[in-house]
Amino acid sequence: MTVARRRVVVIGGGIAGLAAAHRVTELATERRDALELLVLEARPRLGGTIATEHAGGFLVEGGPDSFLSEKPWALALCRRLGIEDRLVRTDDRFRRTFVLFRGQLHPLPDGFQLLAPTRLIPFVTSRLFSWPGKLRMALDLVLPRGGGDDESLGAFVRRRFGAEALERVAQPLVAGIYTADPDTLSLAATMPRFLELEHRERSVTLALWRAMRRAPGSGAGSSGARWSLFVTLRDGMEDLIRVLADRLPSGALRAKERVVGLERHRERWRIGLEHGEHLDADAVIVAVEAHQAARILRYVDPALSQLLREIPYASSATVSLGYRRADVPHPLDGFGFVVPRVEGRAALACTFSSVKYPGRAPEGHVLLRVFLGGALDAGVLDGDDAALEAIARGEVGLALGVNAAPVLSRVSRHPLSMPQYVVGHLARVEAIEHRVAAHAGLALAGAAYRGVGIADSIRSGEAAADGVMAAVAIR
Ligand SMILES: Cc1cc2nc3c(=O)[nH]c(=O)nc-3n(C[C@H](O)[C@H](O)[C@H](O)COP(=O)(O)OP(=O)(O)OC[C@H]3O[C@@H](n4cnc5c(N)ncnc54)[C@H](O)[C@@H]3O)c2cc1C
Repeated sequence: MTVARRRVVVIGGGIAGLAAAHRVTELATERRDALELLVLEARPRLGGTIATEHAGGFLVEGGPDSFLSEKPWALALCRRLGIEDRLVRTDDRFRRTFVLFRGQLHPLPDGFQLLAPTRLIPFVTSRLFSWPGKLRMALDLVLPRGGGDDESLGAFVRRRFGAEALERVAQPLVAGIYTADPDTLSLAATMPRFLELEHRERSVTLALWRAMRRAPGSGAGSSGARWSLFVTLRDGMEDLIRVLADRLPSGALRAKERVVGLERHRERWRIGLEHGEHLDADAVIVAVEAHQAARILRYVDPALSQLLREIPYASSATVSLGYRRADVPHPLDGFGFVVPRVEGRAALACTFSSVKYPGRAPEGHVLLRVFLGGALDAGVLDGDDAALEAIARGEVGLALGVNAAPVLSRVSRHPLSMPQYVVGHLARVEAIEHRVAAHAGLALAGAAYRGVGIADSIRSGEAAADGVMAAVAIR
């Protein structure tokens, strides 16, 4: 009697789906398990939001340009893939961030850790904050603890540091990382460390100071998650996608294969494809955006589908502009700038890509990348590419005094690509996980759940693979 080969299907070929597929392959090899693996990706290309283009000597990242090394999962994956030597670090001589304030770029005070100052002199002498604003921030030293509920980041910062700290630093930094509205963003889901610090030591500033004294050098000079220790790949982030795809069994990858639904069928999973065909599988990892997962899972579990649909998403665009160095009057002595909402500008942030990483622009040129959209600018993608380029050029014109035409321009659109961890997110994710656990051989992965960045997406993909491989082994 011949036994059908068991099949594991991964839906979605972004980094989470590919990390999951790679982990499935690793485990199957370890166990000498001849199971069949398939990755179904709706678009013609793999990578999801990760996309790198080489053009005219520039290296343009359409989506993510780096990953956080403090979260170990991306680095660990690069090591296992044997590509650690392709990683490049930021050029830390220029490790500082500017804030656009009243049309001028001000350096974020040295030692400012996202929400709170950790060094006195740079903070006191900074021209980014008014004296009443600085005094209000200092009140954090004496204020009592808060209620401890899941509160928005905006409410937390206003409560501990005042409106100015929120408007001039926390809001633009958070918009640059999460493309989010701070008044809806859950602090517990995004930056639980600040809640823990308040809970443990009452004053966040004192807690950060003490932590720095205990581990000197660990936080000094850093100015928030997006701007701390990031790494990238020499040939761009898409190199990671290529290497992952190469390591999967031949025939495992199927692009232009949109999944429209999933059903339970005779103790297996039946996966409906766009053109009416279907595939059966023993285990399925759904590694797509939550709104897509909601659609795919609507027949399997309507309540789960509803919970998934409740995770909101924001749209964004990046506009990469290459210039001759001589056409940019600003010294570009930083990694980039963020733009507070109160400035009333279109840009969320601008990265000086060729300063931050080597090899991003040819000799005598620079590459700037403007970030547009986010939760507070839902209509960002209404304009065509020419309109988005014009907006981005206006922003670098204002902030950096660039009037010349760029020698290269690329627009990347990311419709509903960025999950928003709004207040209540953790409870929703727990409810989602609870429901998923009731379906043997089903797992979810991706940026929608427990971390929006690449490292977290890799972790979620690998955990999903571990889970379904355990379930497949039991069958
Ligand atoms: C502009 C931008 C900049 C960013 N910068 C950074 C950064 O610098 N560092 C960082 O760590 N993170 C960054 N992020 C976040 C990072 O991109 C995400 O964490 C990560 O790429 C999410 O991967 P994912 O696989 O979960 O989702 P995705 O990349 O969205 O992949 C999901 C995939 O599923 C496919 N799919 C959807 N529906 C179906 C279907 N029905 N059938 C089959 N396939 C389907 C999609 O086509 C897509 O390929 C950025 C995000 C954006 C938008």
